[in-house]
Amino acid sequence: MIVVAFEMHRLARSRVCEAAHDTLALMSHTHAEPLHPLAGPLHPLGLTRVQFVEAAQARGTKAATARDEYKALFRQGIVPAWCEVADYPVTATLVEGETSKFVLRHEDGLETESVLIPMPRASGTTTTLCVSSQVGCAMGCGFCETAQMGLLKNLRADQIVHQWWAATHRVQRASSAGEPSASARVIKNIVFMGMGEPTDNIDAVIQSVRVLVDHDGAMIPASNISISTVGNPEGIEKIGALVSEVGFHRLNLALSLNAPNDAIRSSIMPVNKAWPMARLKSALAAFPRFSQSAFCVEYVLIPGVNDSDEHCDEVCAFLRDIRCSFNVIPYNPRRNSPWPAPDEASIERFIARALANGQFTKRRGTKGRQVMAACGQLGNEKIRHRKVLGDDGNYAPLVKVRVPMRNSNETSEHNPLRTNDS
Ligand code: SF4
Repeated sequence: MIVVAFEMHRLARSRVCEAAHDTLALMSHTHAEPLHPLAGPLHPLGLTRVQFVEAAQARGTKAATARDEYKALFRQGIVPAWCEVADYPVTATLVEGETSKFVLRHEDGLETESVLIPMPRASGTTTTLCVSSQVGCAMGCGFCETAQMGLLKNLRADQIVHQWWAATHRVQRASSAGEPSASARVIKNIVFMGMGEPTDNIDAVIQSVRVLVDHDGAMIPASNISISTVGNPEGIEKIGALVSEVGFHRLNLALSLNAPNDAIRSSIMPVNKAWPMARLKSALAAFPRFSQSAFCVEYVLIPGVNDSDEHCDEVCAFLRDIRCSFNVIPYNPRRNSPWPAPDEASIERFIARALANGQFTKRRGTKGRQVMAACGQLGNEKIRHRKVLGDDGNYAPLVKVRVPMRNSNETSEHNPLRTNDS
């Protein structure tokens, strides 16, 4: 078995382990050893209605009352008197057109970034919320702003759901009277495409999905939720297990591919050395399918890296036996990017060639690029230290990790945060 010894993860995880324990314990409550929901601090936004009612009953609240409280918490933003929701201040809101990025500061000073994106439809404009699953990220994709931060912490399930809750009940309520602003819309879709690699924090991500779909809470249909991954096969397997459950069959999986072959992918996505493209294809082939829906395969189009006609033909050949929607994302330059954004002509040429190859292809609209809110641009410049939090809560120097070489037991020293300009 290939083992990726991400020493950096170990350090960061040990730091967040204590904080994550409560929610993880509650998550396992429904599947493993019974564990009372009152064990440890209560984070109501990380609970399904069933878990919330159980916790409330243990405090002497009647089940019917608790159910009403749960609805009020999620639908009206009213926090029951007997529990607390962390008061994460919105420390920044950056707006470009109708796209807005908002920043929530946690008690430890670290911040989540989330983006509200308008989606024009035939029936009217809806809103998609892009959420973060981690603060920073350990995957080290060379084109991504978040990678520049390194992994600072995993978010708990309630901290992921809090982004939806804050967007719904705080960010979009602009007037002093607390009424929704004129442009406020119900959030129809949630995409796990913000900071972090969801499969690197998969248990909290799965619990947050369980909460978001709860019929007494946020009530986001599973079909309106997408989890995007660089392709950790074990993480894909866990998402597949969730998709196999009744009520989650139509949850969407997106694969961040970004390259036509292993050589190019490894050069911009270090994780490809551990999880090469053939392995990803096997993981997708084993993924349970309950509908005709297609995987979304994302391809960040980077000038001079993966945008030639030959690259297009090669990636289309790779995708030929995968039922997928090929989603071309014009590169949104990160800070100090070694690459510019692609020009219109090259984007159109690439998409036309993919279509000519018979590949169902869509272009992802570019929104929020000027305020660093577009795809791949989330991250706090001030904490681009390339350091991780150590056991003592202080920043520890970045450590090298050992990534197995493809098709061998050999390993190589590799810094996943190293990018082309570093
Ligand atoms: S693209 Fe995604 S997985 Fe890669 S570094 Fe950025 S946040 Fe992490």
